[in-house]
Amino acid sequence: MLEDGRQVLPHNEMITNLCSQLKEINSKIKNQDKNNGINTEERRALRKKWKELHNKLKKCMHPYVETILKEAIETKSCLCIDDAKTGARSGMYGQVISDILKTECEHRRIPFVVVPCAFTSKYCQVCNTIYTSSKCRSKDYSIFHCPNCGDTNCDVMAADNIRLFGQIIWEHGEQAFCDWFNKIPKSKLQPGEDIPW
Ligand SMILES: [Zn+2]
Repeated sequence: MLEDGRQVLPHNEMITNLCSQLKEINSKIKNQDKNNGINTEERRALRKKWKELHNKLKKCMHPYVETILKEAIETKSCLCIDDAKTGARSGMYGQVISDILKTECEHRRIPFVVVPCAFTSKYCQVCNTIYTSSKCRSKDYSIFHCPNCGDTNCDVMAADNIRLFGQIIWEHGEQAFCDWFNKIPKSKLQPGEDIPW
């Protein structure tokens, strides 16, 4: 998602499919470590399959990665990449694209900053508050409802928060970001607070 709300990476069926297959293989390999299942040969086959699917996934994501990088180069921007290991958008999909972007930025010398993505979809910049309740997001994750400021597109908001967090880290360093971040008021939903879903 770019700052102006253009979505570069659509929810593509093939990518979603590959991710769920990879997830399944991962859990099979993990089971083996606990000695309750597959033998060495089967594990080797699974690892091979995993690598194949992972490469396929990378290939599928290639055009989207190129669009993002082209935009960063043309606008001479620093790319804020969310650290997909944490937060609501974690998982194979986010992880793979974050990793590819980091590697490509290093190769092509595009400035980038990795942003810890905790609370990027729970922070309202308008009233400077983190709303910790998951009820502030619609069930399909498309809309964020701020009790003070109303509804906004969840993806656009998260992208803009990643940009803001990245800018603070880039300009002032990680420690300054943490100090600033820890001072943001956190709010739970008050009883009877009106949520539209
Ligand atoms: Zn607000």
